[in-house]
Amino acid sequence: MHGLMQDWPLLCHRIIDHAAMIHGGREVVTRSVEGPIHRTTYSEIRQRSLQVAQRLDRDGIKLGDRVATIAWNTWRHLEAWYGIMGIGAICHTVNPRLFPEQIAWIINHAEDRMVMTDLTFVPILEKIASQLPSVERFIILTDAAHMPQTTLKNAVAYEEWIAEADGNFQWKTFDENTAAAMCYTSGTTGDPKGVLYSHRSNVLHALMANNGDALGTTTKDTMLPVVPLFHANSWGIAFSAPSMGTKLVMPGPKLDGASVYELLSTEKVTHTAGVPTVWLMLLQYMEKEKKTLPDLRMVVCGGSAMPRAMIKAFTDMGIEARHAWGMTEMSPLGTTCSLQPQFTSLPREKQLDVLQTQGFPPFMVEMKITDDAGKELPRDGKTFGRLKVRGPAVAGRYFRVDSDILDEDGYFDTGDVATLDGYGYMRITDRSKDVIKSGGEWISSIDLENLAVGHPKVAEAAVIGVYHPKWDERPLLIVQLKPDATCTRDEILQFMDGKIAKWWMPDDIVFVEAIPHTATGKILKTALRDQFSNYRLPTAAA
Ligand code: AMP
Repeated sequence: MHGLMQDWPLLCHRIIDHAAMIHGGREVVTRSVEGPIHRTTYSEIRQRSLQVAQRLDRDGIKLGDRVATIAWNTWRHLEAWYGIMGIGAICHTVNPRLFPEQIAWIINHAEDRMVMTDLTFVPILEKIASQLPSVERFIILTDAAHMPQTTLKNAVAYEEWIAEADGNFQWKTFDENTAAAMCYTSGTTGDPKGVLYSHRSNVLHALMANNGDALGTTTKDTMLPVVPLFHANSWGIAFSAPSMGTKLVMPGPKLDGASVYELLSTEKVTHTAGVPTVWLMLLQYMEKEKKTLPDLRMVVCGGSAMPRAMIKAFTDMGIEARHAWGMTEMSPLGTTCSLQPQFTSLPREKQLDVLQTQGFPPFMVEMKITDDAGKELPRDGKTFGRLKVRGPAVAGRYFRVDSDILDEDGYFDTGDVATLDGYGYMRITDRSKDVIKSGGEWISSIDLENLAVGHPKVAEAAVIGVYHPKWDERPLLIVQLKPDATCTRDEILQFMDGKIAKWWMPDDIVFVEAIPHTATGKILKTALRDQFSNYRLPTAAA
């Protein structure tokens, strides 16, 4: 027997309808690509998203067609986002930090019919435009006054393009399982893979993000997503904030410490989210300039492990540092770390131990760890194994790839190695390909990196496995010092000594000017492995 409730498909544009109807006057503030601060509201965003939808419809964009955006976090990007999805087309957010050849590969694989882009990326696109046969038109997210001379096909300024529509338009209706958006994984191994989100998965994911132990913002809060819309849906914030009527502050192209600080401070931001490198820049800026952020209550940090020193730095300022873990394939939230009641009376250092884990999953994310043969391992907080996940916002397969990516119970292998404990807390030990295999035992590169960045002179640290004749692999610690700091190898080794098992100690330390990062801000271990492929450890002769 079926229930007798209404059929109300979970469609993404219903979120902006709700925001406009109930929280219509709430602001969306942007540092525009052109420079000035721009202010609008959810009500205006909805109206202009309808203009986008109407205009796309007139240009012949149909259900299932892909429209790419290569753009910073701005109000125009948000309008394009809802406008594209609102006619059943697929909003394909492309990461502009990828190499131009990768961008071309992704656009061709997705067969995007249109590209909406910021002024910043016009020169890159001009270089690859001849290799993009599916793209019929480029919309430049600017007004007529700032429109550059460009060779891009049928290029038009966004403001002029939407002005040709009056917004008197109805969203299209379709099944909630219709594709809404897509995002390619960064493809550090092999070709990038397309993750195709549905309206239903995005709406359910927004509800997960709204969980009080996750992002949990309300009408009283202001959220600044430093994490870009092109990095796994800005971790759901472009849906969750409007769904809750939370004021949004969009940082546009400027993500350096001073610029992010300025917006956090002047807009009285209460919640913000981004990768550790962004927070590193912010903390360095605040330390140097002796700045404070009295309104900021929560910094959500994910994409890479949040070092203990960073959690401490924020909590010392009275700001909650909320560690988050997830991946493009999970829409992306998998876990977030808040203190469950059994931990709230623990001494501070013990609480930090908990806060350093990646946290526990919200309802609708299921997790298990297994060995290589697929046998489930105990949730004892010690045993580590392959982390596998399932849920309504987890990928079931990749776009245009036939192979199956789930195990027989419907779980997706994340490629991460982790422990789970009895309270549901998950701790990432490593990426399965980054773990250091020393004499058949595993050493967690993340644990060593976290420890090394606890040294006051260390800005960032990376650990890779380097060939060793006796142990197969041993850890090499690569360190980027804070600006103007000087430090010796022995100083850092002494600092680490006694805090980890002896056999986990790095066999050597090298200092570099800068640690390389991927397009989504993770340490680029493949580049470091190449750079140090012939590195001879001092212990190798022994
Ligand atoms: P992406 O799909 O680009 O977001 O990358 C997902 C991967 O980033 C995960 O599978 C993890 O390896 C890594 N990652 C994300 N968040 C964290 C975190 N909090 N700690 C450690 N690794 C993380």
